[in-house]
Amino acid sequence: MPGPIDYSKITIMPDFDTVEWWMGTKEHKYLVRQCKDCSHKWFPPFPACNTCNSMDLGWFETAGTGVLHSYIVVTQPILGAFVEAVPYVVGLIELDDCHEADGSLVRVGGVMLDDEEDVAIGLPVTVEFEQTNEANIVVPRWKISGTAEDTWKFSE
Ligand SMILES: [Zn+2]
Repeated sequence: MPGPIDYSKITIMPDFDTVEWWMGTKEHKYLVRQCKDCSHKWFPPFPACNTCNSMDLGWFETAGTGVLHSYIVVTQPILGAFVEAVPYVVGLIELDDCHEADGSLVRVGGVMLDDEEDVAIGLPVTVEFEQTNEANIVVPRWKISGTAEDTWKFSE
């Protein structure tokens, strides 16, 4: 498991587009934006649907499960908060319940709780929630939750 992220060294400031998303993570819900007119879903939140241009938006509560679509390994901390955490894996996750009829899907990024040797593209993942030093800020992290037959790893 990677080392801890020192949240006291970063400030997370929810804005107009993300404040409700952060309220969701505080309640251990992983939300994505959903258009009330055409049902399209996307992440990260932004103020209009990129399918029909509607600004009548809501939220879709995902199951917080998905498949690791890709990943990178961060070995050089850019911020002081991550000095103890390196090396850590940032995953790109395809959410299980956000595959739409038109073929679009929602991919989200997040810092994995697993070490590099334990991750592989194609493995199932689930979200976990990590409380920061700020009472209202809970950060989602992702964790390998099982096995898969067809997986792939980056070579050295
Ligand atoms: Zn729409």
